[in-house]
Amino acid sequence: MNKSRIYLSTSHQGGAENGYIQEALLQNSISTGGEQVNGFEEDLEQYLGQGSFVAGLNSGTSAIHLGLVLLGVQAGDEVLCQSFTFSASANPILYQGATPVFIDSEAETWNLCPNALEKAIKERIAKGKKPKAIIAVHLYGVPYHIEAIHRVANEYEIPVLEDAAEALGSSYKGQLCGTFGALGVLSFNGNKIITTSGGGAVISKSKEIKEKAVFYATQSRDLAAHYQHSEIGYNYRMSNICAAIGRGQIQVLDRHVTLRRKMHEFYVSLFAEIPSVTVFTVPNEDFHSNYWLTTILVEPNPELGISAEGLRLVFEQENVESRPLWKPMHLQPVFENYPYYGNAVSQSLFEKGLCLPSSSNLTVNEKERIERVISSFFRVD
Ligand SMILES: *Cc1c(COP(=O)(O)O)cnc(C)c1O
Repeated sequence: MNKSRIYLSTSHQGGAENGYIQEALLQNSISTGGEQVNGFEEDLEQYLGQGSFVAGLNSGTSAIHLGLVLLGVQAGDEVLCQSFTFSASANPILYQGATPVFIDSEAETWNLCPNALEKAIKERIAKGKKPKAIIAVHLYGVPYHIEAIHRVANEYEIPVLEDAAEALGSSYKGQLCGTFGALGVLSFNGNKIITTSGGGAVISKSKEIKEKAVFYATQSRDLAAHYQHSEIGYNYRMSNICAAIGRGQIQVLDRHVTLRRKMHEFYVSLFAEIPSVTVFTVPNEDFHSNYWLTTILVEPNPELGISAEGLRLVFEQENVESRPLWKPMHLQPVFENYPYYGNAVSQSLFEKGLCLPSSSNLTVNEKERIERVISSFFRVD
């Protein structure tokens, strides 16, 4: 059997990318910053609305790091962070010499549990240290409980850094993800809903903060002919060639959202008659997900040989990529000694869950291959 591999999430060209790259090459503007970066930032600002100001950076991880810097997080500070996420949400806390305090998820959105969050804030304050920031994630494109989380954050006056790396195009009550927090973060890595090959952005509410982000991202150069520095700088700015790809990609963002949502519908109907599987779906119509990845929970049945891992292995035999959910940060060897608040919600999701191929460019033939694996694994006739 020589079937080509079906990936979890691949890049999907729109067609206009090449024109913008040519433009950048003709302008001989092939370094960091430049007209394509300005253009891409404007495109994103228009798309996001809400008076957003966007700074283009070279990755989502550097955007989270700069976000913490902009919020004044320093060595010795504590930062509350969703445990159920990709490690890039948490690593920058350590770059700053700060301490992550991990928070469990709730079962409806798989994101920050407002109760565990409030309990953690109260306890950390009682211990003598008020947390400096909250990192809240919209995992797999599903918005967190916006109102409950921001009610807690506002009550204790702690800024939210919104990790919307997986949620560009998702919204809550019509407002786009990335625009709710004090700062928002996007990723344009190759596996995200649109890509610049590699890139990220910080979303803020003012021109001054955007300019400060660009200042930090370009080595914090003071105004002087020589190189003068009064603050620590970073080499985090987006490349002009990457931004050119982004300008082409943003034109097809809404189409990609529609296509990924169709993949979610495809799986919902495939699993409709399979009681041991739940397709992760938004709790109600206030939530709009880009369904970057469609994910499922499989109720294990050892007698029938049914489990998420069993399904993953059968997919693998057919050269189809699927993947366990993110392993919670408080269970990771590198983070296991940091405080954790919550129960076992994220751990149980990790144990039962699986991410399914969700690209916006899967062919009819590839979907049939996926369908055949699922039907034979669950013995659907
Ligand atoms: C992809 C991702 C990031 C990091 O983005 P990069 O551009 O890969 O650095 C951060 N947080 C989450 C939740 C992600 O999925």
